[in-house]
Amino acid sequence: MNPFEFSVQHESDTARAGRFATPHGVVDTPAFMAVGTLATVKSLDPIDLREMGAQMILGNAYHLHLRPGDELIRDFGGLHRFMGWDGPILTDSGGFQVFSLEGLRTVSEDGVEFRSHIDGSKHVFTPESVMQIERNLGADVIMQFDHVIPGQSDEATARDASERSVRWLARCLAELERLQAGGPPPKNTITNFPALPGTTFPLPAPSHPQALFPIVQGGIHDALRIDAARRIRELGDWPGFGIGGLSVGEAKPDMYRILEVVDGELPRDRPRYLMGVGFPEDLVEAVRRGVDLFDCVAPTRMGRNGAAFTSDGRLNIKRAEFRTDPRPLDEACDCSACRRFSRAYVRHLFTSDEILGLRLLSLHNVHFLVRLMRDARDAIRAGTLDAWSRDWLTRYHIRPVPTA
Ligand SMILES: [Zn+2]
Repeated sequence: MNPFEFSVQHESDTARAGRFATPHGVVDTPAFMAVGTLATVKSLDPIDLREMGAQMILGNAYHLHLRPGDELIRDFGGLHRFMGWDGPILTDSGGFQVFSLEGLRTVSEDGVEFRSHIDGSKHVFTPESVMQIERNLGADVIMQFDHVIPGQSDEATARDASERSVRWLARCLAELERLQAGGPPPKNTITNFPALPGTTFPLPAPSHPQALFPIVQGGIHDALRIDAARRIRELGDWPGFGIGGLSVGEAKPDMYRILEVVDGELPRDRPRYLMGVGFPEDLVEAVRRGVDLFDCVAPTRMGRNGAAFTSDGRLNIKRAEFRTDPRPLDEACDCSACRRFSRAYVRHLFTSDEILGLRLLSLHNVHFLVRLMRDARDAIRAGTLDAWSRDWLTRYHIRPVPTA
């Protein structure tokens, strides 16, 4: 039996509602995955995530390798046990992070040498070492190590990075197969590994199967995207596909067009994950173009800056007009913040630098996106996605972009 089976249950043009099985449970798609970069969705307890209906969350290989160390997490039984989340997890490979370390990294065909943003220590990421890290973390879905470039890169730069990413994908696959076949344990890259308390450590390392997702790159160049998708499919029968390098400064119509191009090149019976895209209007537009999974730090990062998604558009709770506003953040929201607290109270917490203010806004924003995708699923199942998405975008004050 395939532990990562994806079944499309309803279709509405290119949009689909499906179920994605993993060793830690099922994800109903389309779905928004909250980002827990450092093994925590900032300010939210896993209980909060469960209550709002979140099914799958993210961790990040770069950050967790540097701190607290992927081998420490492995010795605590893997990321699920370490952070107390027993549902599905996806780890990003850290490609985005190491390539963002402008001036602190050198790229070669072998991999990337970089200095830690924490203490300046030197590290090397190769497709092989990243697979070892992601194996130690033990997420259900692991992303390949890819060559990430700035959003406005010219075609030659985008081609070079995309082709390298495909070569690195082949190396990731070979290494993961070696690790899953019980190859030698990865080299210990942590010196002075601390003695762990208690007598039960190390817990058994995670041993469930992991799904490796390739990442389709190619910037905003249609031909490169098509070429990347085809080369990736020649390399294997993948359990799902990442779509990378979007929402990085390109115009929205370019992003939506690329999604339509990629949609035509990927198998319809595998989940597609649009990486790092989390604004509500983008989720709705991408669902209409066949995307199943999303993640973004936007809901928690914006929440910490005082911004809340609402059904009528975005609001900033710091504005003076909310000082005496008795309404919840969003009258249409049933999150535990909106069920209990007024805008006036949340604004008071925020302007007083009270931790609860950050937490309530983050909780509301993540809930908002989880629920948005649940509503999209319901609309697909009911055959009303087109009307639902138009109404939703109009109320959110966004003009719908016609599909090609
Ligand atoms: Zn709410």
